[in-house]
Order: sequence, then structure tokens, then C-alpha cells
Amino acid sequence: MFKFLKLIIACLLLTLALTAQAELVRVDSLRYWTAPNHTRMVFDVTTPVVHQVFLLKNPSRLVIDFKQAKLSKVLPQPPKNHTLFSRVRSAVRHKVDLRVVVDLKADVTPKSFALSPSKGYGNRLVVDLYNKAISRAGTNKKSTATSNRVTKTVKNNARDIIIAIDAGHGGEDPGAHGPKGTQEKKVVFSIAKKLAGLINKKPGMKAVMVRKGDYYIKLRKRMQIARAAKADLFVSIHADAFKNSKVKGASVFTLSNRGASSEAARWLAKHENSADLVGGVSLTDKGDILATVLMDLSQTATKEASRKVAGKVLKNFKSIGNLHKGHVQKAGFMVLKSPDIPSILVETAFISNPTEERKLKSTRHQSKMAKAIYKGIVNYFNQYAPEGTYIALNASQKHIVSRGETLSGVAHHYGVTMRSIKLVNKLASSQVKVGQVLEIPRG
Ligand SMILES: [Zn+2]
Repeated sequence: MFKFLKLIIACLLLTLALTAQAELVRVDSLRYWTAPNHTRMVFDVTTPVVHQVFLLKNPSRLVIDFKQAKLSKVLPQPPKNHTLFSRVRSAVRHKVDLRVVVDLKADVTPKSFALSPSKGYGNRLVVDLYNKAISRAGTNKKSTATSNRVTKTVKNNARDIIIAIDAGHGGEDPGAHGPKGTQEKKVVFSIAKKLAGLINKKPGMKAVMVRKGDYYIKLRKRMQIARAAKADLFVSIHADAFKNSKVKGASVFTLSNRGASSEAARWLAKHENSADLVGGVSLTDKGDILATVLMDLSQTATKEASRKVAGKVLKNFKSIGNLHKGHVQKAGFMVLKSPDIPSILVETAFISNPTEERKLKSTRHQSKMAKAIYKGIVNYFNQYAPEGTYIALNASQKHIVSRGETLSGVAHHYGVTMRSIKLVNKLASSQVKVGQVLEIPRG
């Protein structure tokens, strides 16, 4: 009996499949997402489509052949002055196939794949075009990061503290969305840009935007960009969503232990980025056990730093409104898995909550959120500035007066004048008391 049923179902499925095949796949639209070194073309298709992508020379063209497909409307042209292409054309071939031809302005390497339906999108065909010239130049990122640094702080050879700011999602990945349709990728990018602005105004600090526009970057690549920029901190900015629209508030996350240890194992097993430095020690020439120990040490320090920054950011969020949870939370987010860069993820608010969606869209609130994150970061680095940084060199010291000490003695001890101590501490006289905390200016 069961066999019979199965047979009927199989027949039905086959019929359905045949009917579907007879119908042409519809190509409904095309989107362009332009990143610094590549452009992503996304075609909306009614069902997964058999296709072929290849290049033609003289003149340079990219051809995308869709089998058994038709266009439902005219494809949009690429943005004016696009670096990679000038024009997109289409034609019907063999009566039932579709050919799309892209006129190219630069040498590209194409890569294509299908995307299944998600986040409001249906079936898609993605064609990524990597700009060969820029990809080649991009291999030398380290020198760029160094030269950027030199231009900002030349004083006393002290380096800037680098903050990598990662605006979540981007391009074809909109992230979560609010009841009014606000997209997470857009609001978090605005907050990230405001945060970068604040950081770049602060002497001794420099922001690096991980994504610089509306395009998607793979999660591991986001960590690589932070490492290439020699970031001292990685901050990923998001907006949460939940099925209950009443849920609200900001949360700050660090990496959970489980996420950390499995990632360390992965690193060692695959020797990914084996040439990279972990806590200043190259892993390539160390035995596996030593490498594990070094990785652990580096991770312990990183985790401790992440926890402290997260705590400071959370505290500053508390002062501007709702917190979702009153303590730093832990999760296995991929982007937090750099073993050597302290990393935090901030869920600025719940975009699924109507009030918070409105706040996320408001420029004033975006500034407030950026400022809360900024203050947390500055609080942390004022206390724990890495050695050799401008902020470490310019940080003032504190001195607690003990029995028998005089102001002139303290001044002598630190090699500064009494006058400067009095000035900084707003002291009217030279009298000091036991237990008094004095700020000692740099000489
Ligand atoms: Zn997100």
C-alpha cells in the first residue's frame, strides 16, 4: 500500500517538475552593490536557473547566459561613472534562452552562485565581479594602514589607537527590519559613521570603517580587514529584532567561551592565517602545543579586554535609555572571534519595536547611540591605553599623598613643577593632605 502511495507521489512530483520546466524562468530585476574591490550583480529569478558566465575580449564584455529564461522588464543600467561597467544589454537566444551582456571598463574576474529565498527576497542569481587591478593592489594593505597612521599623529612617534567599526550586514543582506520597513543595514551604517566621526576627532585615535558603503562583506573578511588595519578594538554595530514587538533596549555582547575555543581549534587545525601574529608571536615556527598555549594566552587577554570595553559601553548606554539586559552578554558571533583583537558587538536597540525603530531612524538618536559607544571606548582606553600609543604617552598619572609628603617633594619625584600640579588640580595653596589624590601632569 505504502509503495503504491509513494509511486503516486513520485508521479505527481515528476509531472510538476515537467510543467515547471516547460515554463521559462523569469528574470525580474537586477541590483548592483558596489564595494571597493568588487561589484555584486543580483538578478531576481522566479526559480533557480541554469546559467553560464564568461568573458569576451575586444571589446571587453561579460556574458551571462540564462537557460530557458526570459526578462519580465528592462534591466536597470549600472550607476553613472561606474568603475567596472558602462552598459548592460540583453537579447533572446535560441528562442527560449536569455543572454545578458555587460560592457566592461576594467579587467574583472567573475564568480557566480545561486542564492535561495530569504529576508524578503526570492530566488536570486549572484554574479560577483572582482576588479583585478584593485584586488592586486589590495594585497599590500599593511603599508596603507601604516601610512594612514603616520599622517594623523606624528608627535613623539606615538601611534594612534585604531578602532575598526563594523556596520552589520549590507548590500543584498538588509539585516533585520522594523514594522515600518526600516532596514538594519542602513541605520547601523549611519550610527557607525557618526561613531567614526567622533573617534577621528579625538587626538590619538583613528577609526577604520570595515564596510564603507552599502555592500556585503563576509564575516571572516570583516575580521581580516580589522587585522590588516592593526585594529586595537573591533566594534560591530547591529539592531536586534524579536517576534514580540514590545521587547526593547540595547545589549552589548562579547564572545562566548564555546565560540572562542572552537575558533582557536579551527585556526590551529587549518593553519589559517598562519603567517599572522597572535599577540606579537608568529605561530608558524612554533610546535602545535606551544602554539595552543600562545593562542590561549592571547585569547585570555583579548577576552578580558573585550569584557572591560563591553562593560564601559553598556554603562554609557544605560545613561541614554533602555538596556535590554543590565550586564554584558555572551554569544558565539562569528565577527567576535579574532583571537588577538578585543571585540564587542553592540545591539543598539530592537528595530522590531515601533518606538525603537523610530529612534533608530532619528539622526539625534543615532548621534546619542554613537556617543554612548564612543564614551565607552574612550573610558576604556584612557585606563588601558596600549603601550606606545599617543594616548598612553599623554595620559596623566594619579598620585595619592602619603604621610610626610610635601607638594614640592611630589613635584620633584615626577620631574614636574609645583606650579603645574597646582594648576591642573586647581589648588589655591601648596598645602596637601594625607590621602589627597593629585593629578600629575606630563612634564
Ligand atoms: Zn544584525
